[in-house]
Amino acid sequence: MDCLFCAIIAGDVPARQIHADEHAVAFLDIAPWHRGHTLVVPRQHVADVLEPSTALIDIAPAIETVSRLLVDRLGAEGLNLLVNNRAVAGQEVFHLHVHVVPRFGEHPGMRGLFAPDPAAGGELDALHALLTAAS
Ligand code: AMP
Ligand code: ZN
Repeated sequence: MDCLFCAIIAGDVPARQIHADEHAVAFLDIAPWHRGHTLVVPRQHVADVLEPSTALIDIAPAIETVSRLLVDRLGAEGLNLLVNNRAVAGQEVFHLHVHVVPRFGEHPGMRGLFAPDPAAGGELDALHALLTAAS
């Protein structure tokens, strides 16, 4: 099966991983909407939440850990959790993933969610270092 996120989980495609556990891998989104935009992905290949599985439940601890990590280390004031399911809803990678999007005061509210910070994509290596440094 040709799946980008399975390839990332297998280590065949590089990604800036910031967290992993038995059920999930989390890595920085390559085209972030905001600083620290992260994808939490189940190790099990599941297309979306409409496919029967426990994947979304299994990755809940990783979602919580990543949410706290992003808020604590980046000084975010809040965050959005988002899952796009099927193409009509905007899904582009058909391996279930939860977008964890830290939010900052300069782009508030739902309307600010998809207003990408032009600087957000250019600092991924620095962000990765910050988020993976020993605490
Ligand atoms: P969705 O539209 O919900 O399927 O989201 C897919 C997300 O995957 C988008 O936000 C992309 O920027 C992100 N993405 C695509 N390729 C990569 C990659 N190689 N590494 C990290 N994120 C990626
Ligand atoms: Zn997959």
